[in-house]
Amino acid sequence: MGRDTGPKCKECRREGEKLFLKGDRCYSRSCAVSRRANPPGEGPKKRRPRRSQYLLHLRAKQKARRIYGVRESQFRIYVAHAKNVKGATGEALLAMLEQRLDNMVYRAGFASSRQQARQLVVHGHFAVNGRASNVPSIILRQGDIVSVKSERREKIKAIVEANQDREVPGWLERNGEAMRFQVLGAPNVAEMSLGISANLIVEFYSR
Ligand code: SF4
Repeated sequence: MGRDTGPKCKECRREGEKLFLKGDRCYSRSCAVSRRANPPGEGPKKRRPRRSQYLLHLRAKQKARRIYGVRESQFRIYVAHAKNVKGATGEALLAMLEQRLDNMVYRAGFASSRQQARQLVVHGHFAVNGRASNVPSIILRQGDIVSVKSERREKIKAIVEANQDREVPGWLERNGEAMRFQVLGAPNVAEMSLGISANLIVEFYSR
């Protein structure tokens, strides 16, 4: 499955907020949103158009897609699956995105950004339950254990050390010494703190 490869900072400027797509740079003064808050292609003084309901729904959807680095076609598949899950569709959608292997690698502090996590997974640095896995979109379940393959430890160790102060969500347990983490349960959508309105996304696809 492909991925969006455009300039990441432009995506943040389009959404008008930091999406933290580039790791350390996002926390530095080099962040493009801090320097130029206006959307790409628009001067700083251009009057913003009135926000229609459609635009609100679209922006919510695009923001989620960009944060998780998922293409439109794949995103639609997630929405379709979420509609078949019992309970709130929006929450099921966000939980599914959160359970992707690349996102979990990032959340556990084994990568500095989701983009880097995806690259590390694709390059075969991780094993899921002891089996090599290079598919970033795998959905992890409770009890799954993700470990760094032994021959890749040195490279990932430096990243883990650099990210050791980053908070690990309650649904993951990180073992930095053993270079692995375990999924303890389903993600708690309320604790994701991404500022994504799941209901607006569902409404976008219900039009
Ligand atoms: Fe977004 Fe990070 Fe680029 Fe800032 S540095 S605009 S947060 S990707």
